[in-house]
Amino acid sequence: APPKESETMQSNGLPSSFRVTHPGRVIDKQSGITKLQLIQCYAALAPLILPHLKDRPVALVRAPDGIGGELFFQKHADRAALPGVVRLPQELDPGHPPLMKIDNLQGLLSVAQMNTIELHTWNGVDHAISTPDRMTFDLDPGEGVDWLRIQEGTRLVRVFLQELGLPAFLKTSGGKGMHIVVPLRPEYGWDAVKGFSRAIVQHLAATLPSHFVAKSGPRNRVGKIFIDYLRNGFGATTVCAWSVRARPGLAVSVPVGWDELDTLTGSAHWSLYVLGDRLATGNTPWADYERSRISLADAMRRLDFDP
Ligand code: ATP
Ligand code: MN
Ligand code: MN
Repeated sequence: APPKESETMQSNGLPSSFRVTHPGRVIDKQSGITKLQLIQCYAALAPLILPHLKDRPVALVRAPDGIGGELFFQKHADRAALPGVVRLPQELDPGHPPLMKIDNLQGLLSVAQMNTIELHTWNGVDHAISTPDRMTFDLDPGEGVDWLRIQEGTRLVRVFLQELGLPAFLKTSGGKGMHIVVPLRPEYGWDAVKGFSRAIVQHLAATLPSHFVAKSGPRNRVGKIFIDYLRNGFGATTVCAWSVRARPGLAVSVPVGWDELDTLTGSAHWSLYVLGDRLATGNTPWADYERSRISLADAMRRLDFDP
């Protein structure tokens, strides 16, 4: 059973039934943050991150030796069950071990205890897996693109989405670029949504070739931003809002308002140790997310895209 609010807490703030192994192990040399501190951070982030994890297949970036060591990207459940980590029905991803989702605080803490630093989610939910409920644009700056240009490029993508009548929500990636998310009514299949996202990116790259490229690969994007639409395919994942990143400094992917974009110092603006007041702001920049869900039909027509 998930820990109840009333369950006694240990002096470390974690539920009394919860055991942390190697609590003092330093996972990030730059900050000195320990495994126990990371788990405590996830306990504090739980009310913010759990709504973003709800019902979505999740992939984990695990770092048993900290972020200087080898990282493991895990898309399927281990043989050993973890409390609070639900194995999804086999038919969601035939031919593989079961996908998993994180249902509650206990699941979040148990993957953190298994040395998970990052959580990545699918664009679809388990009960409607063939019709994604969001479209993701992952802005990946190439070499020589400074933060001012990234801010500018991010605004330009938003303007074009607005022209298509599409709502757009912004988050830092906690890395170099930004993530723009369009909330969808689950209606079209993966190929149609991914194909349309590619058409949007190709249009932007053709119209604003000094800003954007639609082709992946570091050499194509020197001085430009690759708008990665490949996050929209079946089985593809993007780092979850409020996930910590397994990079030196432990930045966090944070939902932001469009009016905040100019004030950000970079995509790694917030890290675990400067998150502070931001926890109170929480998901409010995305308060309109659910009621903004939209059908792509009109936007597809406007761009002359045949699903
Ligand atoms: P940045 O802003 O620095 O680009 P990011 O999170 O967008 O940060 P990307 O390199 O653009 O980083 O995205 C990597 C994507 O690939 C993530 O969405 C992740 O879910 C996925 N991914 C990462 N590692 C693996 C892996 N080993 N196998 C499959 N997919 C992976
Ligand atoms: Mn990216
Ligand atoms: Mn990318």
